[in-house]
Amino acid sequence: MRYKNQKNMNSLRFNAINNIANGPIPVKVENTARITGIFNENVFTLKTARHYLSDDAYKSLLASTRGGKKIDRIMGNQIANGLRAWAESKGVTHFTHWFQPLTGLSAEKHDSFFTLKGDGTPIEEFEGAALIQQEPDASSFPSGGLRATFEARGYTAWDPSSPAFIMEIGEGKTLCIPTIFVSYTGESLDTKTPLIKALVALDKAAVDVCQYFDKNVSKVTATLGWEQEYFVVDAGLANARPDLLLTGRTVFGHAPAKGQQLDDHYFGAIPERVYAFMRDYEQESYRLGIPLRTRHNEVAPAQFECAPIFEEANLAVDHNTLLMDVMTRVAKRHNLMVLLHEKPFAGINGSGKHNNWSMSTDTGVNLLAPGKTPKTNLMFLTFFVNTIKAVHDYADLLRATIASAGNDHRLGANEAPPAIISIFIGKYLTDVLHQVEKRVGGNFDEQDEAILKLDIHKSIPELMLDNTDRNRTSPFAFTGNKFEFRAVGSAANCAGPMTTLNTIMAQTLQNFKTEVDGLIEKGEKKEVAIMQTIQKYIVESKSVLFEGDGYSEEWEKEAAKRKLGNVKTTPLALDAFVTDRAKELFENNDIYNHLELEARHEIMLEAYVKKVQIEARVMGDLASTLIIPAALKYQNLLIENIVGLKNAGLDAAASASQKEILKQLSTHINVISENVASMIEARKKANEITNTRDMAIAYCDEVKGKHFDLIRYHVDKLELMVDDSHWMLPKYRELLFLR
Ligand code: ADP
Ligand code: MG
Repeated sequence: MRYKNQKNMNSLRFNAINNIANGPIPVKVENTARITGIFNENVFTLKTARHYLSDDAYKSLLASTRGGKKIDRIMGNQIANGLRAWAESKGVTHFTHWFQPLTGLSAEKHDSFFTLKGDGTPIEEFEGAALIQQEPDASSFPSGGLRATFEARGYTAWDPSSPAFIMEIGEGKTLCIPTIFVSYTGESLDTKTPLIKALVALDKAAVDVCQYFDKNVSKVTATLGWEQEYFVVDAGLANARPDLLLTGRTVFGHAPAKGQQLDDHYFGAIPERVYAFMRDYEQESYRLGIPLRTRHNEVAPAQFECAPIFEEANLAVDHNTLLMDVMTRVAKRHNLMVLLHEKPFAGINGSGKHNNWSMSTDTGVNLLAPGKTPKTNLMFLTFFVNTIKAVHDYADLLRATIASAGNDHRLGANEAPPAIISIFIGKYLTDVLHQVEKRVGGNFDEQDEAILKLDIHKSIPELMLDNTDRNRTSPFAFTGNKFEFRAVGSAANCAGPMTTLNTIMAQTLQNFKTEVDGLIEKGEKKEVAIMQTIQKYIVESKSVLFEGDGYSEEWEKEAAKRKLGNVKTTPLALDAFVTDRAKELFENNDIYNHLELEARHEIMLEAYVKKVQIEARVMGDLASTLIIPAALKYQNLLIENIVGLKNAGLDAAASASQKEILKQLSTHINVISENVASMIEARKKANEITNTRDMAIAYCDEVKGKHFDLIRYHVDKLELMVDDSHWMLPKYRELLFLR
């Protein structure tokens, strides 16, 4: 497709198309023979630390990494010096505290090592105090009124459990210290503080339950392996789409003649330009210690996925945040743009971020891997059924934790898990649970061997390999040795879902232990008490188990009968965070106090409002300044043509079809104009609402609900009618197929 001598040759759209047609300049990506040669090159790992630190400083770092022990001032200075020596050996001049405020992104504030002594001598220094604590000028990060309430400023404090790393941007190199971000009075202002607290709560609760089975277990870590989906488009084309630039998605755009119906993209060959980009960001990721493992095409054209080897959840969350940064940055080098939005293109599959989650002990056992002996089988069943119970009891919270303006387009849109939280466990485990459940009166004595001797460990992995037993439509699926939380949005920070999931699991395990201990006190044998409690939990939570097609209408009906939640929009889904039950849960486990929870609720509602507000503005602007003018030009052309025909002495029949087009065109133009005006009115009204929740609902129902789809429908119709050379926005076929 090459456009020459067009009137609109100078438009961004046609320039971009021409540039691609002329062949984009390929970016040379250095070839590294072995990943192990560069892995962790830019990370201050414990191994590196050993070289740069004294014995005492190293021990202090090690202790704080493993057990969360505080580092004192002297050791802090020593560690800081070692870190600086290492960083300087790699050409680093600046350092920053790297944190994840409630924007969901990462934030940095760079300072140089350079300073002047009292007598004016210039030196480079990095003190322990600067390593351990910083006070960024953070007044513009969202705090939901928290900072105002406490008249406090935000502090960043070093999180030694995630190692320092060097970020290379162009020629510049910066030492990044992963930190948490809290207010002066200790309320968390970021996504990491609550995550770390949830991981501590899970550790404690899970270790307590593990004691029933193995006294040697002294630590349980939650593990996370995320799968990141994303789209890649040509940056020149994307730059000609103000909606992509400002909202991350296309607010207009007719489906291309060829979409994903041929399924020819999935696992197909990766286009060369994208391949170079992948290799480039992968290499940067390896240097940063992100253990990427797989890359492949996804279902939709221009959609891809990458996934690392799973890690301890806190580190995995940092790595995902880092990866999103790295990808976005590296793409620019290749004149590409990465779209992390959940639904960049209407009518084309959206993007998710599956969160594969499990728990593992310091004795090396994956608690969600079926055991090989009756005893380990019982431990597996315990953690397995507790997870089901946790998801059942707190499904509303899990739904809330994945709610966002972007994910609203995806959930329940016949391509992604529905807004109904249910669990898929496969046929074999369904049978196992059924057998446990039907054991009358919880009398396990004479028959429990039969259940526990089931070859769960052999049967499940085999079944899971069989595709028929891997339900892709389930939002929460057991996949052999882990659960996969699939409803998480592609742009989300995993810290949110991981905080909630680990907290509800911690709470459920505590309850479980209380019940089992109660039965043991009454004189039951330990194994019997455990089996009886498992049986009780199965009965109480089996309504959340669903093996069928999660996209089907029947499931919506069936789920309603089972009284499962099905909240479709973010403003309402978020309510679950501020129920009395949620407050009790998070406070009991020392994750959030009431104030923090309310602040977060407020921030998420505000974020929703802002997103929809920006989208509405972009829609209005594009419609008025690009769409309608193009349609008017075409309208004039038609009128000239009709007049010309008449002047040439031809009768009305000769211009009938032009007149019909003219009529349709005018209708679309009118409907768009009227609705843009009415959308602006709806926005004004919504902005006057003082209660944030009500405002968010107004944005959802009045601004978006009543206008977005309607305006889009007519704009997309115009796209099919208007002279292509007048159309300024790159079309879907160009965005999705030109690379
Ligand atoms: P797929 O789901 O595509 O079949 P895998 O089963 O290999 O692929 O794993 C998908 C993701 O699950 C990977 O990111 C992997 O690291 C992660 N994963 C595997 N085991 C665990 C575990 N025990 N805990 C957390 N994540 C895990
Ligand atoms: Mg998967």
